Amino acid sequence: MDRKEGVAMKQDFPLLKQHMNGKPLIYLDSAATTQKPQPVLDALHRYYTTQNANVHRGVYALAATATDLYEGAREKAARFVNAHSARQIVFTRGTTEALNLVASGYLRPRLQPGDEILTTVAEHHSNLIPWQMAAKQTGARLRFLPLEADGTLDLAKAAPCITPRTRAIAIAHISNVLGTIHPIQELAALAHQNHAVLIVDAAQSAPHHPLDVQALDCDFLAFSGHKLYGPTGIGVLYGKRELLAATEPVQYGGEMIDEVELLDASWKDAPWKLEAGTPPIAEAAGLAAAIDYLEARGRDTIQQHIADLTAYAYDQLSTLDSLTLYGPKKRGGVVSFNLGGVHPHDVATVLDAAGIAVRAGHHCAQPLMKWLGVAATVRASFGIYNTRADVDALTAALREAKGLFDV
Ligand code: PMP
Repeated sequence: MDRKEGVAMKQDFPLLKQHMNGKPLIYLDSAATTQKPQPVLDALHRYYTTQNANVHRGVYALAATATDLYEGAREKAARFVNAHSARQIVFTRGTTEALNLVASGYLRPRLQPGDEILTTVAEHHSNLIPWQMAAKQTGARLRFLPLEADGTLDLAKAAPCITPRTRAIAIAHISNVLGTIHPIQELAALAHQNHAVLIVDAAQSAPHHPLDVQALDCDFLAFSGHKLYGPTGIGVLYGKRELLAATEPVQYGGEMIDEVELLDASWKDAPWKLEAGTPPIAEAAGLAAAIDYLEARGRDTIQQHIADLTAYAYDQLSTLDSLTLYGPKKRGGVVSFNLGGVHPHDVATVLDAAGIAVRAGHHCAQPLMKWLGVAATVRASFGIYNTRADVDALTAALREAKGLFDV
């Protein structure tokens, strides 16, 4: 691969051809959402111009095409995470909805006072609040696995927290702030020794990390299409078959039913019982195109590219004194930092003037900000289109910002 290019050519992404504030756009916010390659845009356009019909219900040819497209996307998503079967894939609106579905449909009905749910202080709010609520509603207790100062998890210290009282462990595969990569397989083994389930928030790992749910042996795993170079409005919940079968619907209506009487109704099997209403059909077509796009580039190549770029960014940013980096060196594709005492929003504003899009704030992880002892951070995150030249531009703009703010 040419060092000057990302795994994917920037030209594949129409949005990246734009200028911002008179400068070529350097998009470093892929952890929030990724830009979309032309084949994904084409799939959405093709769907609405030639394939649009409601799924599952029609007997006409167009309805069959749309149904095949939607169910074909489910098969593709299953292969993407190496699930046994497409029946283990529930389409949701995103990671948030998927985790809420597990919390309300699977976990809450099983929780008793005194039961424990384990998570960490570093989670995205969408992998924290559903468990908070489930605990509050049932008298269960939410507990936090200890983290090292750099946000990594020491299994030897975590293991004693996992006991027969543990019903579930919910953890990000890769943190959206620190980039920490958690030992999912080992946590799954510890959970299973105690008859607990392991729920993985894969929002940040699915885009750039090959995923094998059978090797990880996780019980549930969630990710979002829009962080995977696909459309907004679609996400995936993978679940082991018996666990999805045991998950209660949390929404009721069309599509999910088997028989309906005036005073009673029965459900289809999973995954369909968990997908009430007209599903995100165009979005599923877009997600399938995104998966094809990633697979054509090679999932291992992508992982390597993101790892190289992130290590390069870590090294380059480390050369700036007064810049504090948070998290370990070995990490997923995000780099969070602060520049002296300068407010992260001010840093992001200076970078924006240079055409560089980064995020500043709490990154939907307020408890983690408190744990780090900061109000907010600046976060640069990388996608398949980013290059070392983008990192150099970031480093140069930060050097200028240092001068500007005199830190
Ligand atoms: N978990 C993590 C680690 C995330 O980074 C995000 C998105 N920032 C989410 C969950 C929520 O994803 P969504 O908003 O697509 O539901």
